[in-house]
Amino acid sequence: MSAIVSRSIHLASRPEGAASLSDFDLREAPLPAMPAGGVTLRTLYLSLDPYMRGRMDARRSYAAAVEVGGVMTGETVAEVIASDNPNFEVGDMVTARTGWTTHAVSDGSGLTKVDPALAPPSAWLGVLGMPGFTAYSGLIAIGKPKPGETVVVAAATGPVGSLVGQLAHSIGARAVAIAGGPEKCAFATETFGFDAAIDHRADSFASDLAAACPDGVDVYFENVGGAVWQAVLPLLNNFARVPVCGLIAQYDGGSTGSGTLAATMREILSRRLLLRGFINSDFAAEHYGDFKRTVAEGLESGAIRYREDISEGLESAPQAFLRMLRGENFGKTLVKLA
Ligand code: NDP
Repeated sequence: MSAIVSRSIHLASRPEGAASLSDFDLREAPLPAMPAGGVTLRTLYLSLDPYMRGRMDARRSYAAAVEVGGVMTGETVAEVIASDNPNFEVGDMVTARTGWTTHAVSDGSGLTKVDPALAPPSAWLGVLGMPGFTAYSGLIAIGKPKPGETVVVAAATGPVGSLVGQLAHSIGARAVAIAGGPEKCAFATETFGFDAAIDHRADSFASDLAAACPDGVDVYFENVGGAVWQAVLPLLNNFARVPVCGLIAQYDGGSTGSGTLAATMREILSRRLLLRGFINSDFAAEHYGDFKRTVAEGLESGAIRYREDISEGLESAPQAFLRMLRGENFGKTLVKLA
């Protein structure tokens, strides 16, 4: 047992419908002893991501659910504070899958050193991390946008959507953002360079979107599902590509959109649409190197920008996570622990 007391957020209960603060539980416990050949980690930043809502449920998915009583799963940027491993020195910064916790011990496997000279530590959980690679791989490998085509993406100020828009724009496509509220829409065009931004909360959303896509939609990068998908569907051109990346509108006790299934299937057939679901890791071997080079260069030159929504302290994690599921985050959701 170590002298360090670790604080962690555990899954207290599986949500019935929308998740709430009572589904989380903050616990303290002495950190287990560092294994031989291992390292001890202090969390600097915790990434909060929409997929974590799915891990709170028991239903079948591409990854295992968190057990009730278990530590909430998640990726962190952590500092090595003790090491018995020749690959890691005290002071190194690594990305790790240590979950919602202030400290952890590791046998050294699954840790990736980050280069703080390339980008600040938090960026390795956002634009240069899993969400950034999701945007890059889904757009390049499935969306395949061409100059002059129209690319639409929702959750457009988040880490996935904002990079999809910037990459599409840099390829010469018309990038159209869908975001919640006037402030996010203004940020999408002014900071991320989208050609247009449409507020999905406005009553006139569907007609506004149609007006912003006068030549129809060639690539719809699907992040949300639900009402947004319904508004995009009639605008899809023949042979449109739809990387099906996420369905956040359906995660937190939302509608499963079953009423739209018949219309969806009809459009897939008559327009010969290619829809493909993906998990970013499907593309790691082929595309990760290009992604890292492209985004690192873009950050250095200022051509790629990102926005973060950082709350302070482990105890703020459940509230920040629930805010994100309600669309109240504005940028990549992170918790700063140390
Ligand atoms: P964000 O940081 O953008 O946060 C979620 C955003 O979704 C909210 O801010 C809100 O933005 C939007 N949103 C929430 N509910 C709704 C709704 N009912 N209708 C419309 N928009 C809604 O998230 P990320 O960029 O991290 O993730 C975006 C998507 O990508 C998610 O669906 C996620 O699950 C998926 N994903 C998939 C991966 C894969 O490998 N397939 C990997 C990583 C992410 P606004 O207010 O602008 O509407």
